[in-house]
Amino acid sequence: MKYIDEFRDGEVAQSIAAAIKAEADANATYHIMEFCGGHTHAISRYGLEDLLPANVRMIHGPGCPVCVLPVGRIDAAIWLAKQPGVTLVTYGDMLRVPGSRRLSLLKAKAEGADVRMVYSTLDAIKLASANPERQVVFFAIGFETTTPPTAVAIKQAQALGLKNFSVFCNHVLTPSAITQILDSPEVRELGTVKLDAFIGPAHVSTIIGSRPYEYFAEEYQRPVVIAGFEPLDVMQAVRMLVRQINDGRFEVENEFARAVTRDGNEKAKSLVADMFELRRVFEWRGLGAVPYSALRLKEPYAAWDAERRWDVPQDSPPDNKACECGAILRGVKKPTDCKLFGTVCTPENPMGSCMVSAEGACAAHWTYGRFRDLERSE
Ligand code: SF4
Repeated sequence: MKYIDEFRDGEVAQSIAAAIKAEADANATYHIMEFCGGHTHAISRYGLEDLLPANVRMIHGPGCPVCVLPVGRIDAAIWLAKQPGVTLVTYGDMLRVPGSRRLSLLKAKAEGADVRMVYSTLDAIKLASANPERQVVFFAIGFETTTPPTAVAIKQAQALGLKNFSVFCNHVLTPSAITQILDSPEVRELGTVKLDAFIGPAHVSTIIGSRPYEYFAEEYQRPVVIAGFEPLDVMQAVRMLVRQINDGRFEVENEFARAVTRDGNEKAKSLVADMFELRRVFEWRGLGAVPYSALRLKEPYAAWDAERRWDVPQDSPPDNKACECGAILRGVKKPTDCKLFGTVCTPENPMGSCMVSAEGACAAHWTYGRFRDLERSE
């Protein structure tokens, strides 16, 4: 298949791995964070860490949209689903993410709440059109990639005059999350998380372009390579980052040139800018309260904002104490550091959000058996 098979060629992967080994300084260690859950998934699925030399270390980042939503926002979605006359719709992964007291949208559904899974925002609009007696609330999550479809849904609701459709908006921003990690005590003061470079997101960057990463590449002196989600994309990005680190450069390079430009998708960006504004602060799982890191609907679109229609709880209950998702999302720990990994917590019985989504680090490690390497070496 074009643009797939040629980026999964094992022999080419081996040759890039050999080049990385040859180019990496044997006396140095390279700490590279892949921001995106899509990259974490590719690294686990194709065993890319096994191809890399031991002194090139991958650190999982917070770029899994399901994982970063804190317990309070899951609880708020469950609260909305239980309001009289409400049908709450969202993407499949969100249904199983545990809220506080081990509740989830799936359990709320089992208890009688009207919760439905949709594949697209268009499905949500169709549902609202077909059920005028119900208030259909779309639980919107995700980074810059999923924000434009939410905007399109609101435009459609406006055009159709749908009064029974609204959005519980939880769209978050990639650059703010990267800045928060670089400003975290673990990176800046304590040095417990070493970060030399970033692999930048693929899909997000098709929307925002490569330009937004230029600020922190220069300000924090960390090189960035935007990469696609195929295994050769990731390997090539690692090679480009090793070269930048060796050369002492802090540039934004674009490995995913087949889909990403410097300025991104102007139409999508202008649609989002027209409809959304920055929240002053938004809580992230693992990263805490991050200033200007999420979006809400602007006043002219208030009629479609579920948080203005209902008095949605804004609580911040703590994470399950035994779950290490927060530390994993900050790059401080790995899934196998969690005592519950693979014992109490599995994809069938997730105790934390990182085990729910395919993009979550725990689910990726479990699904592709990355923990077995550890078992063998013990
Ligand atoms: S294995 Fe489960 S409990 Fe442990 S960090 Fe991952 S999601 Fe949380």
